[in-house]
Amino acid sequence: MEISSEIRASGPHSQGCVILVGAGPGAADLLTVRAVRAIAAADVIVHDGLVGADVMALVPPAARLVSVAKRRDRHTMRQDDIGALLVAEALAGHVVVRLKGGDPFIFGRGGEEVEACAAAGVAVEVIPGISSALGAAAAAQMPLTHRDHASIVSFVAGECRGLAEQNWVGLAGKGRTLVIYMGVTGADRIAEKLMADGLAPDTPIAVIERATLPTMRVLRSLLADLGGLVARETVQSPALIIVGDVARLGDIATLTTIAKAQTCPAY
Ligand code: SAH
Repeated sequence: MEISSEIRASGPHSQGCVILVGAGPGAADLLTVRAVRAIAAADVIVHDGLVGADVMALVPPAARLVSVAKRRDRHTMRQDDIGALLVAEALAGHVVVRLKGGDPFIFGRGGEEVEACAAAGVAVEVIPGISSALGAAAAAQMPLTHRDHASIVSFVAGECRGLAEQNWVGLAGKGRTLVIYMGVTGADRIAEKLMADGLAPDTPIAVIERATLPTMRVLRSLLADLGGLVARETVQSPALIIVGDVARLGDIATLTTIAKAQTCPAY
């Protein structure tokens, strides 16, 4: 199995390296070919909770698995500790694959891990993944841009901590699509924040849960009902909130035939 020239140049076994690999939104066949190659070449796989079972099934039996996932009995490993772990494993001569949900550089702290490697003089490579916003848009047939609806897209982090300090003014509204990652827990407060910024309560919203996985759900409503929708439907993480006119797309009765044709039998 070939791995990229950059990794080969650093000598994968004589001198270790770290590869940050975007594992995509869940479905294993949404990995890039380069990601599959890197996983196959790994001595050590450091993964978090967002990486789906289908992707984990591709891990070679000889590779050592290290989970840094959040568990009920344990907090997520501190970012500094993850960086130190990657560096230590690489310095021990291993090809270390850091598997991250979606894309490593979209709310994935990939930047901090690259910096940790660079500071320690460890060779590091980044392989992009399909970020969940893109996976969700395709799976729900909800284009994030559309000549009739939106020509600007913004990705924001909606986690409760620091929400009040984030300035989202102008990111949502006519002609714009706002995609909110990590927003399910704070959905109520997110809706309030957007309305306080002047967004109309009847702005279309969609919540896309477990995008690209067989149990994916696409729920739609209006901004004023965002918190209500999440509570009524007991939406669980991982899920994305999409705010803007495109949130209406993909669920129109007339699209039914298109949706049926989506699974091309020859593919
Ligand atoms: N790097 C990741 C994002 C990590 S932040 C990426 O590029 O997608 C974690 C957030 O991503 C979750 O809270 C959720 O909002 C979103 N997410 C990840 N996987 C998802 C999925 N399969 N469906 C919906 N949202 C997902």
